[in-house]
Amino acid sequence: MSEIDVQTATVDMIGRTGAKNLQIGYLDEIKPTAWVAMATFDRGHKTGSGLSLPEALWVLLEGLVDGGVCQHCHKVTTLLAPTEITGHPASVALSAATCVYTYREDVKAIRPGCQP
Ligand SMILES: [Zn+2]
Repeated sequence: MSEIDVQTATVDMIGRTGAKNLQIGYLDEIKPTAWVAMATFDRGHKTGSGLSLPEALWVLLEGLVDGGVCQHCHKVTTLLAPTEITGHPASVALSAATCVYTYREDVKAIRPGCQP
């Protein structure tokens, strides 16, 4: 698994949430440099920030996925970050009422846990 694969999958998933546009930027007037990702939707904008571009994109996606409803199984959705984002192995408190979305190396995409 590479950071680039995860980043590409993250951008793809942001697009699948209905984003019409994605802007990225950074603030180098503060140290360490902070990254910002902003998605535009028909009804406004959503942002994520972090200390790297992959982290900012992932935080944006978390805000879009967490607490949503899975279009496949209709459970509440949550996003589980891979090691490339967090720096440590993924873990989450699983609930039978939750559909966990995460990066899958076999398809190099972010997929819901209810799908094969
Ligand atoms: Zn599901």
